[in-house]
Amino acid sequence: MSTELNLVLLGPPGSGKGTQGERLQADLELPYWATGDILRAAVREGTELGRAAKEYMDRGDLVPDEVIVGMIGQRIDSDEAADGFILDGFPRTAPQAEALATKLTELGRELTVVLLIDVVDDEVVRRLGGRRTCVEGGHVFHVDFNPPGQDGVCDIDGSELVIRDDDKPEVIRHRLEQYHAKTAPLIEHYDTHSLLRRIDGAESPDAVADEIRRTLATLRLEADEAI
Ligand code: AMP
Repeated sequence: MSTELNLVLLGPPGSGKGTQGERLQADLELPYWATGDILRAAVREGTELGRAAKEYMDRGDLVPDEVIVGMIGQRIDSDEAADGFILDGFPRTAPQAEALATKLTELGRELTVVLLIDVVDDEVVRRLGGRRTCVEGGHVFHVDFNPPGQDGVCDIDGSELVIRDDDKPEVIRHRLEQYHAKTAPLIEHYDTHSLLRRIDGAESPDAVADEIRRTLATLRLEADEAI
């Protein structure tokens, strides 16, 4: 393993990729790019990207590959990514995985590891069904697991907490179908390339973070031994 760390977080919606991605960003001091967050910010700002993505997102469909690939390609190709990056929610389809591999090859780089944060469907429904998101900054709470101090109000910026359109029950089910049909095949793909490491996402955020830390430490050891 070279010193750079090019990491992908894979897993169903609601598996905790965002929570773990933010922790990893702080621990590893690497840029963290979550395609869902980038798209939601674009929708809030009313940019061309946001207008193109909104109807797909509201339905729980995937945004077309070419829109997403351009958005992430630019970032990987920037100075910010010189020491590596953490990707969350990308790649999500076989063509996106192919585009990522091509981009990295062009840059003389490769993926270091794909962490699959695994959670069963029933747990996804339970987690996303109770999720509340603030309209201003996208801060996330949960009615049972992480309730705000005051019902319906964001602790961080005081704005209103709402159910994201795509966290409504019928849309959650559709997002899960999309995940199983289009994203889950990447698990086998990355496993075949010996890049996949499985993390049990059913545990608490702290326990999941510990398991990720141990996994990355083992990878480093294996890489050192290979030199
Ligand atoms: P997330 O917050 O990761 O669950 O993403 C929310 C929504 O953004 C998804 O349901 C998709 O509509 C869209 N999206 C995010 N990442 C991608 C991607 N890599 N490919 C296609 N659509 C995406």
